[in-house]
Amino acid sequence: MLKVDNLEVAYGNIKAIKGITLEVNKGEIVTLIGSNGAGKSTTLRAISGLLKPRSGSITFNGERIDGVEGHEVVKKGICHSPEGRRIFPRMTVEENLDLGAFLRNDKEEIATDLERVLTLFPRLRERIAQRAGTLSGGEQQMLAVSRALMGKPTLLMLDEPSMGLAPVLVDMIFETISAIRDQGITILLIEQNASAALEVADRAYVLESGSVKMSGSAKDLRKDDQVTKAYLDRKSTRLNTSHIPLSRMPSSA
Ligand code: ATP
Repeated sequence: MLKVDNLEVAYGNIKAIKGITLEVNKGEIVTLIGSNGAGKSTTLRAISGLLKPRSGSITFNGERIDGVEGHEVVKKGICHSPEGRRIFPRMTVEENLDLGAFLRNDKEEIATDLERVLTLFPRLRERIAQRAGTLSGGEQQMLAVSRALMGKPTLLMLDEPSMGLAPVLVDMIFETISAIRDQGITILLIEQNASAALEVADRAYVLESGSVKMSGSAKDLRKDDQVTKAYLDRKSTRLNTSHIPLSRMPSSA
């Protein structure tokens, strides 16, 4: 469904992504994990057309999308719930959700999708007329995910959906991610909570300093001693790959 091949992205002179290759197959939950600054958000920004790659290619359903404008990428079926929520605080919950659907004109389906997200997140139904800026952090996170869903994605990209949430809400967000996949939406997930991400995902890529250092099924990575040690040894739940010997890394790393 999505193929990223040898992608390079830079901010001025800073090379943030140094030749990443990854793929996401239809129906999968794939997670990108890695320490701060590894290049996870930059990868998603390049896929969603917010950043132009320096080189490499991004193919979605067989069509090149690198260099395509962000709104065109949304029309092709990729919606992005960015890091830091980015909801519109002065607008109501309903207006934020309407904005998620602004490129669509299938009114009846929009109403069905609105009903679907409000069923996924009943809290938002209760707060539908409330200004988004008055929502709690967890509710804003739910709104950001819901707004992305209102774009009717076939591929939903979530950037740290559990960030800053209380444990009970973290569990709820991960259950919802599974439920969204069960509705037929493919998911590319960035998570600081590597342990929870590996529980919910089918496959994972471990990024470090702009490169893929490791990849495999989430099940195998969860069982991998080095991976387990790498994140259990740290207070932070972010995955630290510095303990993983280079011999275990793929040759492209
Ligand atoms: P985090 O979880 O901390 O956001 P990340 O893996 O998502 O980490 P990115 O945000 O993609 O990492 O950052 C990758 C690299 O690009 C980092 O070195 C970061 O400092 C740099 N970077 C990110 N955004 C910008 C920007 N707007 N301008 C310049 N450099 C940037």
